[in-house]
Amino acid sequence: MNTDDPNSDDPLCRFCFEGPSDGPLIQPCSCSGSSANLHLSCLRKWQRMVVVDQHTHPAFYEDDVRHHICNTCKSPYNCPPPTRAELMTSFTGVEIASLLCVNRVIGSHAIFSDSLGREVEGAGSSRVRLLQRSYVHWIRGAYLITNVDEDKGYLEVELTGRDFRLLCNLKEEIKAEGRTYKLEIGENLKGVVAAFEKQQEEEEEEEGEDNAPPTPPPTTSPAPPTPPTPQQTFQSILSKNENNGSITIRYADPTGPSYGDDHIKAVNLSRPLAELSPSMSRKISQIYGKVKRKKPMIQFDDIGVVNYSGGPCDDDKIVRCLVLGGNGSGWTSVGSLEVALLLAHKRRKEGGGEGFWSGRKVEVGGLVGRKDLNGELGVCLKYRADLGRWNVRLRNGLGVQIKPTNLTPRSTETRGEIMVFWGDARWTRAQLLGEIARGHWGLCKADVSDVLVEKEVWKGLDGRMVFAPVTAMTDAEMLRSREEMEHMRRNFLEAGEGDEEEEEEEEGEEDEEEEEEEEEEDPMRMTDAEIEDLVREDMETGE
Ligand SMILES: [Zn+2]
Ligand SMILES: [Zn+2]
Repeated sequence: MNTDDPNSDDPLCRFCFEGPSDGPLIQPCSCSGSSANLHLSCLRKWQRMVVVDQHTHPAFYEDDVRHHICNTCKSPYNCPPPTRAELMTSFTGVEIASLLCVNRVIGSHAIFSDSLGREVEGAGSSRVRLLQRSYVHWIRGAYLITNVDEDKGYLEVELTGRDFRLLCNLKEEIKAEGRTYKLEIGENLKGVVAAFEKQQEEEEEEEGEDNAPPTPPPTTSPAPPTPPTPQQTFQSILSKNENNGSITIRYADPTGPSYGDDHIKAVNLSRPLAELSPSMSRKISQIYGKVKRKKPMIQFDDIGVVNYSGGPCDDDKIVRCLVLGGNGSGWTSVGSLEVALLLAHKRRKEGGGEGFWSGRKVEVGGLVGRKDLNGELGVCLKYRADLGRWNVRLRNGLGVQIKPTNLTPRSTETRGEIMVFWGDARWTRAQLLGEIARGHWGLCKADVSDVLVEKEVWKGLDGRMVFAPVTAMTDAEMLRSREEMEHMRRNFLEAGEGDEEEEEEEEGEEDEEEEEEEEEEDPMRMTDAEIEDLVREDMETGE
C-alpha cells in the first residue's frame, strides 16, 4: 500500500499505516488529516510502552498524562485510558493474571533471588542490615496467597473518644498508592468540626482583646443552660447505641473501586523461625492463656505449632494461621491463633482409628494395588466410616481413600499441625502483575507438598511455576541471565546429555494429567468468621 499517495482518500492508522481491514479506525483526539485515524489496539500498544520504565510499586507511579492526552494535538482522548491492571496483564498474559487468587503460590525467580542475595552481600555494612531486613523476605520466597480482597474504592479510619483532635485536623484529601481519596464525613461530624473551629477563632479573638469584659456578677435567676462544647457533642455522637463508642469515617476515591487495586495478601512458607523473640513468646502465651481459660477441659499443649516469618508487613503480629486437615486442599486458613487452636482440637477429636485425625501427617505403605503410592506423604482429611478409610490428600495433589492399616503417622517434630505466620506480604493486583511482568515472580497452584515437604519449600516449586513471557517489561538483568541460562542449556542439550532430563519432564507431565482427573472438586470456601462460628458452636455443644 502506498501511503505517500496524496490522492489516496483511504484513512490509515497513524501508527501502523494500515487501514480498516486491520480493525475499525477511531478518531480519539483533535488531530486532523492523515493523523486523525488510528486503531484502538495500536493506541493501546503505544500506551503500554509508556509504563515500561515506571516503577511497579503504586507509591511510585503517577497516572501518566500520556494515557489521557494526545502527544501531538494535546487534546484529551475520547476513549478511556487503559487501567494499570489491563496494561500489566497485557505483559503477563491473561493466563498468568488469572492465577492471582487464593491458594496459589507466588515464588521468586531463581535469578531474582540470586541478584537480591548478591546485593545484600555486596552492600556496605551500614546498608546491609537495612537491605537484609526487606530483601530477606523475597530471597527464595514461596508465598501462599491467603486473601484477595476486592478494592472498595475507599479507605476507612476509625475514631474513638480519644480522637477528637484528629477529627478536627483531618485533611480534605489524601494521596496513597497513586490515588487521591476525598474525605467523606457525616453532617453531624461536620457540625462538630465547624463548632470547634468557631470556638478556636473566638478564643484567639479574646486573647487579642486587652480589656476583656468583666465577668457579670452572680444573679439570683438561674443561668441559661450552657450549650455543649464540640468535644461533648463528639462524645455524645460516639456514645449513641449504633456507634458503640467509635465511629468510622471514610476517604473515597471519586473514580470508584478498581480491579487493579484489589489487595492481595500472602504468607511466606519458606522461612520457619528457629526461635521466637521474647515479645512473640509473650503474645503466644497470652493467647494460650485466653483459650485455656475459656476451655479449661481441653488439652492444647500437644497440638504441634510451627512459627514462620510470613512477610514484611505487621511482622510483630500473628496475621494468619494454617490448620492442616479439613475437606479440601489439605489445610484451612484462619485469621487468629485462638481459632486455629480450637479448629485443630476439633479435628483431633474427629479421629478414625488409633492415632489418626484430620490434619495428621501420614506416610502411605503396604499397598498392593497401587504400589506406586507406597512411600508417599500426605495429610488425612476426613474419615469415611462407611468405607473404613481415610480421605488422604497426597503430596502431589492426588486425593485417595486409604485404610488406616496402610498409613503410618509421621512425627510432628518438623512441621506442626498449625503453621503460624508472623507478618505477611501485601500487593495491589496491578503492582504484583507488574512484578510478575518484570520476571521477578512466578505462579503455581498450591498443593499439600507446600505445607508438608520436609525440604526447602521454594525448591519444591521448581518446574511447577509459570513465568511471564519475555516482553519490554522484563527486567534487563533477568533477561541477560535468562539468555545465559538458555545458552548453557542449549550447549548442554547439544552435547547429548540432556535426553534423560527431557524424558523425566515428560513423565512428570503425564502423572499430573492422571491426578487431575481424580482430584476432588474445590471445597466450599468459608470466611474466617464462618469458620470461627462453626468451631465455637461445635465446642459449645461438644464439650
Ligand atoms: Zn494501527
Ligand atoms: Zn491528537
